[in-house]
Amino acid sequence: STQKKEDEANMAKTYHDQDADLSLIQSKRVAIIGYGSQGHAHALNLKDSGVQVKVGLRPGSANAKKAENAGLEVVSVAEASQWADTIMVLVPDQTAAKVYAEIEPALHALGSDGQPKTLMFAHGFNIRFRTITPPTTVDVSLVAPKSPGHRVREVFTEGGGVPGLVAVEQDASGKALANALSYAKGIGCTRAGVLETTFTEETETDLFGEQAVLCGGTAALVKAGFETLTEAGYQPELAYFEVLHELKLIVDLMYRGGLEYMRHSISDTAEWGDYVTGPRIVTAETKKAMKDVLTDIQSGAFAKRFIDDQNNGRKEFEAFRQQDRDHPLEKVGAELRKAMPFLDPVKVENGHVVK
Ligand code: NAD
Ligand code: MG
Ligand code: MG
Ligand code: MG
Ligand code: MG
Ligand code: MG
Repeated sequence: STQKKEDEANMAKTYHDQDADLSLIQSKRVAIIGYGSQGHAHALNLKDSGVQVKVGLRPGSANAKKAENAGLEVVSVAEASQWADTIMVLVPDQTAAKVYAEIEPALHALGSDGQPKTLMFAHGFNIRFRTITPPTTVDVSLVAPKSPGHRVREVFTEGGGVPGLVAVEQDASGKALANALSYAKGIGCTRAGVLETTFTEETETDLFGEQAVLCGGTAALVKAGFETLTEAGYQPELAYFEVLHELKLIVDLMYRGGLEYMRHSISDTAEWGDYVTGPRIVTAETKKAMKDVLTDIQSGAFAKRFIDDQNNGRKEFEAFRQQDRDHPLEKVGAELRKAMPFLDPVKVENGHVVK
């Protein structure tokens, strides 16, 4: 049917191991700028894939010791960028424009292989919102693993890979896509599948997903549910188990078999309540709010507020953090998790994970 043909034409193009040539990235010098969640995983996976890697960090960075202990060479950002053919920027998005000033001088020369250098990202934020404007003579591409960094490393060492996205913004060499796919293979993403996208689509969908559903939407739903129960006089411990602890068990079912498998596993009572109550909670008004959120992302208003606050000493950011840190849900949760060591519970203090 016409609809079926249209759906097929709209399907994302997907690349697997057989579509990527690992030897391309093995013939390049790769600088990994930053050694955090994504940086350590990219650097170590590439090294295991036979790629020459140097890590670029600020002098005296706390992460330099970690990288050196893992057998990696650590140099300054400027030195790594001068040496490299491919420069992957894995510093926080709000810091990238500042760090780019140390990378930029290196982009005016060709790589050691006589080819244009490649500037790479794992998220399109700084290119999409034009806080970084690279020279037109370099390749600009993106490989974005759809996974937290620690899983990018763990799954790779287990022989698998996490799915990813690939995009090309500038193709000075004529080989930007093939080189980006080779990089994606080096970190394991083509084992799972790499979808082709653009910087704009990756950035806008990533920001929308984390704000409206994954992080913002879910956190607000959990807090509202907890408050509704405890304000009605129910015990906070029960409220925590109902709205937060069990959420993981439900999401695990959706992850494995979609909404239908989740509904297959829950009672008919729960399934009926799902159908009649879900639309009372996420209403047409909620969807209208989601559309407004998407508009703010597309217009750059969200990015501007975020970057302005970061440049103003993160005042709003830290106030939001403190407000949720003090929520009764967090206090009762921390106590309950102490009795469940098998969950491998963690605590965050002053931005650091403590066991
Ligand atoms: P992170 O906060 O975990 O690590 C940042 C690293 O940058 C640290 O090693 C830090 O030492 C270094 N750094 C900070 N300031 C620096 C400076 N001035 N000079 C040099 N190095 C500096 O960051 P992350 O979460 O890995 O994010 C990196 C990129 O990956 C971002 O673009 C992000 O959107 C993207 N991304 C992250 C994830 C994730 O799992 N966290 C998932 C997909 C994409
Ligand atoms: Mg995302
Ligand atoms: Mg994101
Ligand atoms: Mg129940
Ligand atoms: Mg059922
Ligand atoms: Mg963080």
